[in-house]
Amino acid sequence: MRSHYCGGINETHIDQEVTLCGWVHRRRDHGGVIFLDLRDRDGIAQVVFDPDTPEPFEKADRVRSEYVIQIRGRVRRRPEGTENPNMPTGQVEVLGKDLELLNAAATPPFPLDEYSDVGEDVRLRYRFLDLRRPEMLERMRFRSRVTSYIRNFLDGQEFMDVETPVLTRATPEGARDYLVPSRTHPGSFFALPQSPQLFKQLLMVSGVDRYYQIAKCFRDEDLRADRQPEFTQVDVEASFVDEEGIMAPMETMIRELFRDLLKVELPAFPRIAYAEAMRRYGSDKPDLRIPLELVDVADLVASVDFKVFSGPANNPKGRVAALRVPNGGELTRKQIDDYTKFVGIYGAKGLAYIKVNDVSQGIEGLQSPIIKFLGDEATKAIIDRVEAQDGDLIFFGADKTNVVNEALGALRVKLGHDLDRIEGDWAPCWVVDFPMFEEDDAGKLHALHHPFTAPVSAEELDTKPAEALSRAYDMVLNGTELGGGSIRIHDEKTQQTVFRSLGIEEEEAREKFGFLLDALKYGCPPHGGLAFGLDRLVMLMTGAGSIRDVIPFPKTQSATCLMTDAPGEVDEKQLRELNIRLRKVQKDEQGKKEG
Ligand code: ASP
Repeated sequence: MRSHYCGGINETHIDQEVTLCGWVHRRRDHGGVIFLDLRDRDGIAQVVFDPDTPEPFEKADRVRSEYVIQIRGRVRRRPEGTENPNMPTGQVEVLGKDLELLNAAATPPFPLDEYSDVGEDVRLRYRFLDLRRPEMLERMRFRSRVTSYIRNFLDGQEFMDVETPVLTRATPEGARDYLVPSRTHPGSFFALPQSPQLFKQLLMVSGVDRYYQIAKCFRDEDLRADRQPEFTQVDVEASFVDEEGIMAPMETMIRELFRDLLKVELPAFPRIAYAEAMRRYGSDKPDLRIPLELVDVADLVASVDFKVFSGPANNPKGRVAALRVPNGGELTRKQIDDYTKFVGIYGAKGLAYIKVNDVSQGIEGLQSPIIKFLGDEATKAIIDRVEAQDGDLIFFGADKTNVVNEALGALRVKLGHDLDRIEGDWAPCWVVDFPMFEEDDAGKLHALHHPFTAPVSAEELDTKPAEALSRAYDMVLNGTELGGGSIRIHDEKTQQTVFRSLGIEEEEAREKFGFLLDALKYGCPPHGGLAFGLDRLVMLMTGAGSIRDVIPFPKTQSATCLMTDAPGEVDEKQLRELNIRLRKVQKDEQGKKEG
């Protein structure tokens, strides 16, 4: 139906006849001449109708925003002074000779021809219109270029694209499963995969050697952060490799992706041990563009009379850390109060600080409500340790280690943004040497990565599991985890040891993961892999504010689809077929659960 895309016409088409199809982006009537901006996925072309051709002129007069039309006309140079240098087609216009109305359109719920601050609910309800906006179309196009780039790269490196099932058994990645009832096996359920983890490992046992898949994963999590219940991973696994065999090609892939699609040369990827990342940045996904660091001061305050500091300083599970903010002395009382509220979100009970007015005056040159509790000696020692300068502000966190890390880690990032202290555009890194496990308050161990990650030392795993390090690695960019993976366990005995450490007894392990344990017995090669979060990668590359903006049809924060109204109720017959009887859930009980 068309000879060109609207966005594709330019000076090389002058005097040619073209046929364009698209949506009426805007219609203007200028002294008896009608201008239609015609839009398709490639851009916008200006089409002019004048009264010399009465029939198309009248049709053009009747079209409205978002009508679907086909036009035929001749490309000509725009009259001098009317060119639009901001538009790729801005040097030319089409003199319309024919117009066919292909479809009318109701008035859209929000204008598509200009930026308007529409609530996200409305955008999601009318997503098919929202996606018409050039900005959203451009993001989808970019995403498609990313996936095709990645496919080409991995194909070139002899990775094989293999699909794995969506109806499967639980794969533990630390979230709740989405369950699907089985009609043919009453009372039994499939789980949607939290990742293809076990299948890709089984493919290694099968000899696939190098696998990849752009795979949908499902995790029923509370969606506080910018997460989605279904999201896409670029999932990779390879046999006969060590850490380098995965990290090196993946780093190359990301580096070349940025070079090719964004013309960005990423700096070197430093490797940072997990313990160091937590110590210096309070986070295992540090934003290295921010030049602020946490400094431990527990030893300096362990014997002061100030319980708020000495308590955590003497607790093996506590931490006392300082965060020096150069020139932070300019912060107002109100700003400091706001930051105090901010760290409260992470469980911090307060936010102590010292203002450094004049270092040369010693204690006299400082200003803080806590100095009288800390005493001069400890205060001076802190000032020395953080190498305070005139004009600085020093914030403190004193609590359980994880509270301090989360609170000061988040504060560090927030200050970096608020005070405009971001250095450079891109700061990638690898975080390595993760612990195998995390201990909860009850002393129970949980896998930090997932239970299939290999330990650095089998002996350590046996004797001091809580301290054992794993062979896991995460790729981090600008404070966002882009991907993560590990070298896997490839022998049954070690796998059983990890299950045991996690409190999964042999019988349960057999029942849940019997197929994996069997596979490990039949000649499993050493192997490892990683998965990138595609949505986050595209979000970072496009500068979008949320992963919802790079997912064509995302769910809301409460995991619903406003457009299709999913999840929805099903009729009694379907439930009966599935042998399901619903327990009456009171509306307010439901509300409480969600709250
Ligand atoms: N399956 C892991 C995840 O989803 C990635 C990996 O270990 O390859 O995080």
